[in-house]
Amino acid sequence: MKPYPEHLLPIDGRFADLVHPMTRLERIVEGCTWTEGPVWFGDHRCLIFSDIPSDRMLRWSEAEGTSVFRAPSGYANGNTRDGAGRLISCRHGMRDVARTEHDGSITILARDFGGGRLNSPNDVTTSRDGAVWFTDPSYGILSNFEGYRAEPEQEARNVFRIAPDGTLGAVIQDFAQPNGLCFSPDERVLYVAESGSSHDADVPSVIRRFDVEGARVAGGEIFAEIDTGFPDGMRCDVHGNLWSSAWDGVHCLSPEGDLLGKILVPERVSNLCFGGPRGNTIFITATRSVYRIVVEVTGA
Ligand code: MG
Repeated sequence: MKPYPEHLLPIDGRFADLVHPMTRLERIVEGCTWTEGPVWFGDHRCLIFSDIPSDRMLRWSEAEGTSVFRAPSGYANGNTRDGAGRLISCRHGMRDVARTEHDGSITILARDFGGGRLNSPNDVTTSRDGAVWFTDPSYGILSNFEGYRAEPEQEARNVFRIAPDGTLGAVIQDFAQPNGLCFSPDERVLYVAESGSSHDADVPSVIRRFDVEGARVAGGEIFAEIDTGFPDGMRCDVHGNLWSSAWDGVHCLSPEGDLLGKILVPERVSNLCFGGPRGNTIFITATRSVYRIVVEVTGA
Protein backbone atom coordinates (compact mmCIF):
# COMPACT_ATOMS: atom_id res chain seq x y z
CA MET A 1 0.00 0.00 0.00
CA LYS A 2 1.47 3.30 -1.09
CA PRO A 3 1.37 6.10 1.42
CA TYR A 4 -1.01 8.83 0.29
CA PRO A 5 -0.84 12.44 1.43
CA GLU A 6 -3.81 14.11 3.09
CA HIS A 7 -5.19 15.61 -0.11
CA LEU A 8 -5.63 12.25 -1.83
CA LEU A 9 -8.26 9.71 -0.83
CA PRO A 10 -7.98 6.44 -2.77
CA ILE A 11 -11.10 4.30 -2.56
CA ASP A 12 -10.60 1.77 -5.36
CA GLY A 13 -7.34 0.16 -6.49
CA ARG A 14 -7.75 1.68 -9.96
CA PHE A 15 -7.14 5.15 -8.50
CA ALA A 16 -3.42 4.38 -8.21
CA ASP A 17 -3.10 4.31 -12.02
CA LEU A 18 -4.75 7.72 -12.31
CA VAL A 19 -3.19 9.77 -9.52
CA HIS A 20 0.43 9.40 -8.42
CA PRO A 21 0.72 9.40 -4.61
CA MET A 22 3.53 11.96 -4.78
CA THR A 23 1.60 14.53 -6.80
CA ARG A 24 0.86 17.75 -5.01
CA LEU A 25 -2.14 20.01 -4.90
CA GLU A 26 -1.09 23.59 -5.50
CA ARG A 27 -3.08 26.79 -5.09
CA ILE A 28 -2.20 29.00 -8.05
CA VAL A 29 -4.83 31.76 -7.72
CA GLU A 30 -6.40 33.26 -4.63
CA GLY A 31 -8.45 36.31 -3.69
CA CYS A 32 -11.48 35.64 -5.87
CA THR A 33 -15.08 35.42 -4.70
CA TRP A 34 -16.57 32.40 -6.52
CA THR A 35 -14.48 30.88 -9.29
CA GLU A 36 -16.03 28.82 -12.08
CA GLY A 37 -15.81 28.01 -15.76
CA PRO A 38 -12.15 26.99 -16.25
CA VAL A 39 -11.01 26.47 -19.84
CA TRP A 40 -7.48 25.78 -21.04
CA PHE A 41 -5.93 27.64 -23.98
CA GLY A 42 -2.89 25.52 -24.80
CA ASP A 43 -2.04 27.80 -27.74
CA HIS A 44 -1.63 30.67 -25.27
CA ARG A 45 -0.40 28.46 -22.41
CA CYS A 46 -3.04 29.95 -20.18
CA LEU A 47 -6.16 29.19 -18.23
CA ILE A 48 -9.23 31.39 -18.56
CA PHE A 49 -11.82 31.23 -15.80
CA SER A 50 -14.71 33.19 -14.34
CA ASP A 51 -15.02 34.92 -10.99
CA ILE A 52 -18.78 35.20 -11.27
CA PRO A 53 -19.82 37.59 -8.45
CA SER A 54 -16.91 39.91 -9.29
CA ASP A 55 -18.26 40.20 -12.85
CA ARG A 56 -14.90 39.37 -14.37
CA MET A 57 -12.97 36.68 -16.18
CA LEU A 58 -9.36 36.08 -15.28
CA ARG A 59 -6.38 34.68 -17.11
CA TRP A 60 -3.65 32.66 -15.44
CA SER A 61 -0.36 31.53 -16.94
CA GLU A 62 2.74 29.97 -15.46
CA ALA A 63 4.88 32.81 -16.83
CA GLU A 64 2.72 35.79 -15.98
CA GLY A 65 0.46 34.76 -13.14
CA THR A 66 -3.04 36.17 -12.90
CA SER A 67 -4.48 39.09 -14.84
CA VAL A 68 -7.91 40.34 -15.88
CA PHE A 69 -9.06 38.82 -19.15
CA ARG A 70 -12.44 40.54 -19.37
CA ALA A 71 -14.32 42.89 -17.03
CA PRO A 72 -17.19 43.31 -16.95
CA SER A 73 -17.87 39.78 -18.10
CA GLY A 74 -21.67 39.81 -18.00
CA TYR A 75 -21.36 37.65 -14.88
CA ALA A 76 -19.98 34.87 -17.04
CA ASN A 77 -20.06 31.36 -15.60
CA GLY A 78 -19.14 28.26 -17.64
CA ASN A 79 -16.71 28.46 -20.54
CA THR A 80 -15.52 26.14 -23.27
CA ARG A 81 -13.94 26.26 -26.74
CA ASP A 82 -15.56 25.12 -29.94
CA GLY A 83 -13.95 23.14 -32.75
CA ALA A 84 -12.45 26.33 -34.19
CA GLY A 85 -10.92 27.25 -30.84
CA ARG A 86 -13.35 30.07 -30.13
CA LEU A 87 -14.33 30.85 -26.56
CA ILE A 88 -17.97 30.15 -25.70
CA SER A 89 -19.30 31.59 -22.43
CA CYS A 90 -22.51 31.30 -20.43
CA ARG A 91 -23.43 34.75 -19.16
CA HIS A 92 -25.80 35.12 -16.23
CA GLY A 93 -26.05 38.88 -16.67
CA MET A 94 -27.17 38.77 -20.28
CA ARG A 95 -28.92 35.43 -19.76
CA ASP A 96 -27.31 34.16 -22.93
CA VAL A 97 -24.65 31.96 -24.46
CA ALA A 98 -22.06 34.01 -26.31
CA ARG A 99 -19.15 33.18 -28.60
CA THR A 100 -16.03 35.32 -28.85
CA GLU A 101 -14.94 35.42 -32.50
CA HIS A 102 -11.33 35.44 -33.63
CA ASP A 103 -11.57 39.19 -34.26
CA GLY A 104 -12.81 39.78 -30.70
CA SER A 105 -16.43 40.49 -31.53
CA ILE A 106 -19.21 38.70 -29.66
CA THR A 107 -21.89 36.57 -31.30
CA ILE A 108 -24.99 35.61 -29.28
CA LEU A 109 -25.74 31.92 -29.81
CA ALA A 110 -28.81 31.63 -27.59
CA ARG A 111 -30.89 34.09 -25.58
CA ASP A 112 -34.58 33.20 -25.89
CA PHE A 113 -36.65 30.07 -26.01
CA GLY A 114 -40.39 29.63 -26.51
CA GLY A 115 -41.02 33.36 -26.38
CA GLY A 116 -39.21 33.99 -23.08
CA ARG A 117 -35.69 34.80 -22.00
CA LEU A 118 -33.48 31.97 -20.82
CA ASN A 119 -33.01 31.64 -17.04
CA SER A 120 -29.24 31.99 -16.67
CA PRO A 121 -27.06 29.67 -18.79
CA ASN A 122 -24.62 27.97 -16.46
CA ASP A 123 -22.29 25.53 -18.18
CA VAL A 124 -21.54 24.63 -21.78
CA THR A 125 -19.85 22.02 -23.90
CA THR A 126 -19.66 21.20 -27.59
CA SER A 127 -19.89 18.08 -29.74
CA ARG A 128 -17.85 17.26 -32.82
CA ASP A 129 -20.85 17.79 -35.12
CA GLY A 130 -20.63 21.51 -34.28
CA ALA A 131 -23.51 21.61 -31.81
CA VAL A 132 -23.31 23.54 -28.53
CA TRP A 133 -24.93 22.06 -25.42
CA PHE A 134 -25.69 24.06 -22.28
CA THR A 135 -27.66 23.99 -19.05
CA ASP A 136 -30.09 26.70 -17.98
CA PRO A 137 -30.77 26.60 -14.23
CA SER A 138 -32.06 29.65 -12.38
CA TYR A 139 -29.06 30.47 -10.15
CA GLY A 140 -28.17 33.68 -11.98
CA ILE A 141 -31.62 35.21 -11.49
CA LEU A 142 -32.29 34.07 -7.91
CA SER A 143 -30.33 36.98 -6.43
CA ASN A 144 -28.13 39.89 -7.38
CA PHE A 145 -25.03 38.03 -6.22
CA GLU A 146 -24.08 36.42 -9.50
CA GLY A 147 -26.37 38.21 -11.94
CA TYR A 148 -29.57 40.22 -11.77
CA ARG A 149 -32.54 39.04 -9.76
CA ALA A 150 -35.49 38.41 -12.05
CA GLU A 151 -38.61 36.32 -12.46
CA PRO A 152 -38.05 33.24 -14.62
CA GLU A 153 -39.62 33.31 -18.05
CA GLN A 154 -39.04 29.61 -18.68
CA GLU A 155 -41.34 26.95 -17.26
CA ALA A 156 -38.47 24.55 -16.70
CA ARG A 157 -34.72 24.47 -16.20
CA ASN A 158 -33.62 22.74 -19.36
CA VAL A 159 -30.60 21.31 -21.06
CA PHE A 160 -30.42 22.89 -24.51
CA ARG A 161 -28.72 22.00 -27.75
CA ILE A 162 -27.84 24.64 -30.31
CA ALA A 163 -27.72 22.81 -33.63
CA PRO A 164 -24.95 23.64 -36.12
CA ASP A 165 -27.53 25.71 -38.06
CA GLY A 166 -28.28 27.75 -34.93
CA THR A 167 -31.63 26.15 -34.04
CA LEU A 168 -32.19 25.96 -30.30
CA GLY A 169 -33.84 22.85 -28.87
CA ALA A 170 -34.70 21.82 -25.30
CA VAL A 171 -33.33 18.28 -25.21
CA ILE A 172 -33.74 17.48 -21.49
CA GLN A 173 -36.55 19.02 -19.48
CA ASP A 174 -36.90 17.09 -16.22
CA PHE A 175 -34.13 18.52 -14.03
CA ALA A 176 -34.65 20.60 -10.89
CA GLN A 177 -31.41 22.47 -11.63
CA PRO A 178 -29.17 21.06 -14.38
CA ASN A 179 -25.63 22.28 -13.89
CA GLY A 180 -22.32 20.88 -15.19
CA LEU A 181 -22.34 18.74 -18.31
CA CYS A 182 -19.81 16.82 -20.35
CA PHE A 183 -19.53 14.11 -22.97
CA SER A 184 -17.84 10.74 -22.80
CA PRO A 185 -14.80 10.56 -25.12
CA ASP A 186 -16.88 8.92 -27.90
CA GLU A 187 -19.68 11.47 -27.34
CA ARG A 188 -22.25 8.71 -27.05
CA VAL A 189 -22.96 9.57 -23.42
CA LEU A 190 -23.81 12.99 -22.01
CA TYR A 191 -23.39 13.42 -18.26
CA VAL A 192 -25.45 16.12 -16.54
CA ALA A 193 -25.15 17.18 -12.91
CA GLU A 194 -28.29 17.72 -10.83
CA SER A 195 -27.60 20.46 -8.26
CA GLY A 196 -31.20 21.08 -7.22
CA SER A 197 -30.44 20.12 -3.61
CA SER A 198 -28.98 23.63 -3.32
CA HIS A 199 -32.52 24.86 -2.68
CA ASP A 200 -34.56 21.67 -2.19
CA ALA A 201 -33.20 18.97 0.11
CA ASP A 202 -35.49 16.40 -1.51
CA VAL A 203 -33.62 16.57 -4.82
CA PRO A 204 -30.92 13.88 -5.00
CA SER A 205 -27.32 15.03 -5.58
CA VAL A 206 -26.65 12.93 -8.64
CA ILE A 207 -25.05 12.80 -12.04
CA ARG A 208 -27.33 11.38 -14.71
CA ARG A 209 -26.24 9.78 -17.97
CA PHE A 210 -27.99 10.17 -21.30
CA ASP A 211 -27.46 8.25 -24.52
CA VAL A 212 -26.84 10.64 -27.38
CA GLU A 213 -27.02 10.15 -31.12
CA GLY A 214 -26.88 13.42 -33.01
CA ALA A 215 -29.66 15.55 -31.59
CA ARG A 216 -31.46 12.56 -30.12
CA VAL A 217 -31.19 12.16 -26.35
CA ALA A 218 -32.50 9.13 -24.44
CA GLY A 219 -32.13 7.51 -21.04
CA GLY A 220 -31.26 9.71 -18.10
CA GLU A 221 -30.69 7.14 -15.40
CA ILE A 222 -28.61 7.93 -12.33
CA PHE A 223 -24.92 7.40 -13.06
CA ALA A 224 -23.53 8.27 -9.65
CA GLU A 225 -24.52 9.93 -6.41
CA ILE A 226 -22.26 12.59 -4.94
CA ASP A 227 -21.84 11.98 -1.21
CA THR A 228 -20.66 15.45 -0.19
CA GLY A 229 -22.69 18.45 -1.29
CA PHE A 230 -23.76 18.26 -4.92
CA PRO A 231 -22.07 17.99 -8.32
CA ASP A 232 -21.39 21.08 -10.43
CA GLY A 233 -18.84 21.10 -13.28
CA MET A 234 -17.10 17.95 -14.53
CA ARG A 235 -14.81 16.56 -17.22
CA CYS A 236 -13.93 13.18 -18.71
CA ASP A 237 -10.43 11.83 -19.21
CA VAL A 238 -9.37 9.85 -22.29
CA HIS A 239 -10.31 6.56 -20.62
CA GLY A 240 -13.85 7.75 -19.92
CA ASN A 241 -13.41 8.28 -16.20
CA LEU A 242 -15.54 11.18 -15.03
CA TRP A 243 -13.96 13.76 -12.73
CA SER A 244 -16.69 15.63 -10.90
CA SER A 245 -16.76 18.60 -8.60
CA ALA A 246 -18.13 18.12 -5.09
CA TRP A 247 -18.03 20.13 -1.89
CA ASP A 248 -15.05 18.22 -0.55
CA GLY A 249 -13.01 18.17 -3.72
CA VAL A 250 -12.89 16.32 -7.03
CA HIS A 251 -14.42 12.85 -7.23
CA CYS A 252 -13.01 10.41 -9.77
CA LEU A 253 -15.66 8.03 -11.12
CA SER A 254 -15.09 5.05 -13.41
CA PRO A 255 -17.10 4.77 -16.66
CA GLU A 256 -19.39 2.44 -14.69
CA GLY A 257 -19.96 5.08 -12.03
CA ASP A 258 -17.76 3.58 -9.31
CA LEU A 259 -16.10 6.11 -7.02
CA LEU A 260 -12.38 5.42 -7.46
CA GLY A 261 -11.03 8.13 -5.21
CA LYS A 262 -11.05 11.78 -4.36
CA ILE A 263 -8.75 14.76 -4.63
CA LEU A 264 -9.58 16.58 -1.42
CA VAL A 265 -9.54 20.36 -1.84
CA PRO A 266 -9.68 22.74 1.15
CA GLU A 267 -12.41 24.85 -0.49
CA ARG A 268 -15.72 23.91 -2.10
CA VAL A 269 -15.13 22.94 -5.74
CA SER A 270 -17.30 24.35 -8.52
CA ASN A 271 -15.62 23.02 -11.66
CA LEU A 272 -12.45 21.70 -13.25
CA CYS A 273 -10.73 21.22 -16.59
CA PHE A 274 -7.75 19.39 -17.99
CA GLY A 275 -4.87 21.35 -19.46
CA GLY A 276 -1.23 22.20 -19.01
CA PRO A 277 1.63 21.48 -21.41
CA ARG A 278 0.97 17.72 -21.39
CA GLY A 279 -2.80 17.82 -20.95
CA ASN A 280 -2.59 16.04 -17.62
CA THR A 281 -2.98 18.97 -15.26
CA ILE A 282 -6.39 19.33 -13.66
CA PHE A 283 -7.24 22.96 -12.94
CA ILE A 284 -9.80 23.21 -10.17
CA THR A 285 -11.93 26.26 -9.52
CA ALA A 286 -12.80 26.25 -5.83
CA THR A 287 -14.58 29.18 -4.20
CA ARG A 288 -11.94 31.92 -3.65
CA SER A 289 -9.13 30.05 -5.41
CA VAL A 290 -7.88 27.99 -8.32
CA TYR A 291 -5.81 24.87 -7.69
CA ARG A 292 -3.87 22.58 -9.98
CA ILE A 293 -2.76 18.98 -9.70
CA VAL A 294 -0.84 16.83 -12.18
CA VAL A 295 -2.39 13.40 -12.75
CA GLU A 296 -1.51 10.32 -14.80
CA VAL A 297 -4.18 10.80 -17.50
CA THR A 298 -5.09 13.46 -20.01
CA GLY A 299 -8.45 15.04 -20.64
CA ALA A 300 -10.77 13.68 -23.31
MG1 MG B 1 -21.96 25.30 -12.80
